[in-house]
Amino acid sequence: MSTFEQLGLSPETLRAVNGLGFEEPTPIQEKAIPLALSGRDVIGQAPTGTGKTAAFGLPMIETIAVDSEHIQGLVVVPTRELAIQVAEELNKIGEFKRILALPIYGGQDMTRQIKLLKKHPQIVVGTPGRLMDHMRRRTIRLQNISIVVLDEADEMLNMGFVDDIKFILGDIPEDRQTLLFSASITKAVENISQLFMREPALIKATPRNITVPSTEQHYIEVPERKKFDVLCNLLDLHAPEAAIVFGRTKKRVDELNQALARRGYSAGAIHGDLSQSQRNAVMTQFRGGTIDILVATDVAARGLDIEGVTHVYNFDIPQDPESYIHRIGRTGRAGRKGAAFTFITHRELDHLRIIERLTQRTIIRHPIPTLTDALAGQQQVTIERILKTAEEPVLSAYKSMAENLLEHHDSVTLLAAALKLLTKEPNTEPVQLTEDTPPAPRPKKTRQPAPRRRQHRPRKPKR
Ligand code: ADP
Ligand code: MG
Repeated sequence: MSTFEQLGLSPETLRAVNGLGFEEPTPIQEKAIPLALSGRDVIGQAPTGTGKTAAFGLPMIETIAVDSEHIQGLVVVPTRELAIQVAEELNKIGEFKRILALPIYGGQDMTRQIKLLKKHPQIVVGTPGRLMDHMRRRTIRLQNISIVVLDEADEMLNMGFVDDIKFILGDIPEDRQTLLFSASITKAVENISQLFMREPALIKATPRNITVPSTEQHYIEVPERKKFDVLCNLLDLHAPEAAIVFGRTKKRVDELNQALARRGYSAGAIHGDLSQSQRNAVMTQFRGGTIDILVATDVAARGLDIEGVTHVYNFDIPQDPESYIHRIGRTGRAGRKGAAFTFITHRELDHLRIIERLTQRTIIRHPIPTLTDALAGQQQVTIERILKTAEEPVLSAYKSMAENLLEHHDSVTLLAAALKLLTKEPNTEPVQLTEDTPPAPRPKKTRQPAPRRRQHRPRKPKR
């Protein structure tokens, strides 16, 4: 396993990677980055959500000359959402090199786009139709392009963009570098690569099978912005003795930890930016039961042998099946039963299926827990605490207090009041986490003509 430092990136870019909160390269990044930096054409195959954007974005940023006014990098993507999302990530990666990436897509006002193009972005991220419009109008010139990326190539070709892609690639100088990223390598993808790439290196990031612990595995489909409330409801419902919550990045882990504290949970965070002594302190608290929730990145949790973890929550789906297995392997150790819950956004469903296939385990869909479920979970905790205390030799002082109270009050009302006081009712104080890169909706698989060719039928008037 290599680190970002070992991949040959410049200090500015490493600084940007750190700012993004990435701790270590994903498998596809680890393989693609050194090859792309060496100038080779690369075909990268990896499932959705495995970090393909940075796999091409990092080497692309490195090859671009900042002082040139020309467009040097082009990324072709299937949808406007992806254009926006990829450009945003490239701008973050290129922040310290002062590289500007501009998204170009159909539906956005042409005049505005032309104005933005005059700011001389070094990289354009565009959908095929709109790119061609600009090429015809000569508002985009591709003569100085040194690196081209076809992102989500399978989807683009499925959507019927083959001629557009041929047209665009045909207009770019041949001595460029070409990178192609795709979740699958279809016949159409192969054809394009044969026509337009030079001895491409084919890399795949489909990890090997490994045995999976006998943890109960569940997934919950939940939109990004609702994840935190769902996590709190689950924690209240399960009332875990010891739980680990996994977040994707260091920043995310810090934010989650703070948000949990604000809602009254006893949590602590570990990730690679903390010193060893800080990490040790948190681990001592977790092992000793001073905190019940450990919020961690993959790297920080790797190799930790923690006893008695009852629940693992994957707040973000892991990048690859191996991390998934490492994560859920934290629970149910030494014959104890454990449960794992993985949050996925709608577009990550495919990624989950791949993990399922590789681990050969079914991950069961679990409904979104409600506040009522959460409250019921906490009420159960209270009942258990009361019953347990009742079995202990109760201090006589409390017994006489109880007898005095019962002379003037009804027993059910009194017990209800005690139960209410002892129950941690769900806290719904709004908490704002930084949005993770908004997930792009998956383009439809059905064969559709490119949007600009769609015949607009007049709508039926509403009655
Ligand atoms: P793909 O294009 O393969 O579907 P993305 O590039 O959109 O995947 O990345 C998915 C998510 O993972 C994004 O939120 C991205 O910021 C994050 N990510 C990418 N690389 C890493 C990394 N090395 N460590 C942690 N998170 C990462
Ligand atoms: Mg992608």
